[in-house]
Amino acid sequence: MTDVRVRFAPSPTGELHIGGARTTLFNWLFARKHGGKMILRIDDTDKQRSSPEFLKTIFTSLNWLGLDWDEGPEVGGEYGPYFQSERLEIYHSEAQRLIKEGKAYYCFCTPEELQAEKEERRLQGLPPRYSGKCRRLSPEERKEKMAGQSFVIRILAPEEGQTIVDDLIRGPVVFENDLFDDFIIMKSDGLPTYNFASVIDDAKMEITHVIRGEEHLSNTPRQQIIARQLGYSIPRYAHVPMILAPDHTKLSKRHGATSVHEYREMGILPEALINYLALLGWSPGEDREIMSMDELIDSFSLEKVSKNPAIYDLKKLIWLNGHYLRTMELETIVLRALPFFEKDDILSEKVASYQEKERNRIIEKVVDLVRDRVKTLQEVVEASDYFFRDDFAYNPKGVEKHFRHKNAAGILDEITKTLSQVEPFAAATIKEELEGLSRRLNVSLGQINLPVRLAVTGRTMGPDLLEIISFLGRDEVLARLKRAKQLLIQS
Ligand code: GLU
Repeated sequence: MTDVRVRFAPSPTGELHIGGARTTLFNWLFARKHGGKMILRIDDTDKQRSSPEFLKTIFTSLNWLGLDWDEGPEVGGEYGPYFQSERLEIYHSEAQRLIKEGKAYYCFCTPEELQAEKEERRLQGLPPRYSGKCRRLSPEERKEKMAGQSFVIRILAPEEGQTIVDDLIRGPVVFENDLFDDFIIMKSDGLPTYNFASVIDDAKMEITHVIRGEEHLSNTPRQQIIARQLGYSIPRYAHVPMILAPDHTKLSKRHGATSVHEYREMGILPEALINYLALLGWSPGEDREIMSMDELIDSFSLEKVSKNPAIYDLKKLIWLNGHYLRTMELETIVLRALPFFEKDDILSEKVASYQEKERNRIIEKVVDLVRDRVKTLQEVVEASDYFFRDDFAYNPKGVEKHFRHKNAAGILDEITKTLSQVEPFAAATIKEELEGLSRRLNVSLGQINLPVRLAVTGRTMGPDLLEIISFLGRDEVLARLKRAKQLLIQS
């Protein structure tokens, strides 16, 4: 294979959505697998809808996912500029070349004229198709119209035969040429159409494989027609299947989070999202699901991309995320979780004021205790609050059950006494003493442990109680038991 060059070409008119992220990932994996180059090109000719903020979130999302590019904005390259808005001169001169070669022409038809033509064809039972009437203007007529009328540039499209897109995923897809009229390549505002700019850039940037969403398949024959007229060689094409919602409709906002940014805010790990995106329409076979980036690079191939739509499944993403949360290096998880702790202001002032290393060591311990029970970074934080602060509310059902019976106050007093005396204040000795207490009072161990858990965490469930107690330390545990006792007295 010649040196692979692929590109991702987002328009900065919105956030990076899972569809775009998946397209980038497939391009990226393909480039890495074949030792090729990944190019980022920004399709920003639509000035009205493009914005620097969207561009920034696209960069941030790609960086967060770990999908880097070898050429493009911020890194440069020999084939720049990489913003279409800075390449207008190139599109203009290629359009002029086509005109000179008689492969494109100026069209002065007004929208009303085009509408009338369309209507006439409709009455004759014909599909809408531009008649090509401006193709036949004499040089004088053209000159005259140029002086006062706005115009577009149309390309001469073949009227007969077929255009075949030899798709790497779908095989040959045949389009009858009578589907295409002489379509517009330069608009009346002097800007290129998407198809025209895209073909020129793909050729000038020496793109070998165009890997993009299936929604572009219908553009591809037009792009091949343009490429032929321009005398370019045609890259290989691969159209990856659509991503549909679970109800098999087009995925949209109403189905929940769809942008990379939103997943990040939910507490999804980039490793999990990458793994999930890879499986949207691609499968390595053998039922393998959990795969690292290196494994993905190793086994990725366009032949294994499915022709059928991929069904988006949030539950699976969350499941994968839970897996990564349980198995990844604690250090990495803590770094990822920190912004969530900070956002919800969970860390006590004391912990927040520690040196970074000490602070992270403490958070690591907490994350290690709670991570088996949660699936997102947001849930890590929600499950951790009582490790850092004592202003939590008590679970009302728990209060009813463990603080409201007649022996509750007495048991809490006994527990307090035991825990204030136990030496050393460590899991093993605490366990022994609490077991001894349950025997002495002739109550079950649950009647001891459950009120303690409720008093020190506000909850009826959670990680190992002894771990929690040893983490908090004697003073904190006694203070919390006292607070619980006060609750009992007040009520
Ligand atoms: N800017 C186009 C888009 O965002 C690029 C399509 C293509 O890859 O050619 O859909």
